[in-house]
Amino acid sequence: MANYLAIETTGGRRFAAVERALREPGWDEVRIRVHACGICHTDAVAVEAGGGAAIVPGHEVVGVIEAIGPAPAQDWRVGERVGVGFLGGHCGRCTPCRRGDFVNCADQPRLGLTADGGYAEVLYARSSGLVRIPDELSAVEAAPLLCAGLTTFQALQQGGARPGALVAIQGLGGLGHLGVQYAARLGYRVAVVARGEDKRALAERLGAEHYVDSTAQDPGEALQALGGAAAIVATAASGSSMSPLVHGLAPRGRLVVVGAAADPVQVDTLALIFGTRSIAGSLTGTAIENEDNLAFAAQRGIRPMLETFPLAEAEKAYELMISGAARFRAVLVTEGANA
Ligand SMILES: [Zn+2]
Ligand SMILES: [Zn+2]
Repeated sequence: MANYLAIETTGGRRFAAVERALREPGWDEVRIRVHACGICHTDAVAVEAGGGAAIVPGHEVVGVIEAIGPAPAQDWRVGERVGVGFLGGHCGRCTPCRRGDFVNCADQPRLGLTADGGYAEVLYARSSGLVRIPDELSAVEAAPLLCAGLTTFQALQQGGARPGALVAIQGLGGLGHLGVQYAARLGYRVAVVARGEDKRALAERLGAEHYVDSTAQDPGEALQALGGAAAIVATAASGSSMSPLVHGLAPRGRLVVVGAAADPVQVDTLALIFGTRSIAGSLTGTAIENEDNLAFAAQRGIRPMLETFPLAEAEKAYELMISGAARFRAVLVTEGANA
């Protein structure tokens, strides 16, 4: 069998382009010819920290099935266009799976962290992790929706706000610029909380009714002045920036945390108790929830803002993402993918 190109990392922000030998897919795997792979901030866990062992990063992967193992968990066809997100397919056997809680499966590959991901021409994936891609979405458009899009779509549903309620999106980067679009299309009145004035126009163009510059005013007080948010989706990679948001919640409001941060969120216990407010985490979603997500995005015109790079320029694209210079998602495109 032929070889394929993969970009490996061993941590320490080292990348190496390697040729790997093609093999048949395993028992419940499929082999996917990759067309596009988005670069997500979570890729940093492998690329920066890393364990020394070589792994292919990337968990926003779109391609076409080219081979199917002997025992796929579901029906898939060769030639079908599919995607794989961060959660690489539940096992169906562990205790959370037996309770139908597939997001919390205890034996699930995390693409690009515990299993090779999509910075490559070929991906091997568990069949239970596959997501069908609607025709309306190109591979490049669909890729960031598989993780960044799903993360905010699911977090908004966890927020549990009523249609028409005030919902805030904190941060207007790779996650936030999608979160605003989902929140507006889901029927919420949207407030964006971000640093500085330069993002106000974009926030409004994406569907925000209100804009709070967190460098000019306390974001909690600003949201209270608007009546309090029924839900806040916090996407910034900073715990300290989330702390004042709790004060911006309406009674029974929920702060849903999706931005992974090195520092903790500090909580005023009285703000939780009086008003029965809560804080929750949200972890992307299941493969079928991702199909719901893509269908919703396709129908409602939700699209990521992105730049594309050839696979060979993965390192350059990653540097742009990690330095915050990418607007707003970077997507790797393989040769021959007329996505
Ligand atoms: Zn991600
Ligand atoms: Zn499981």
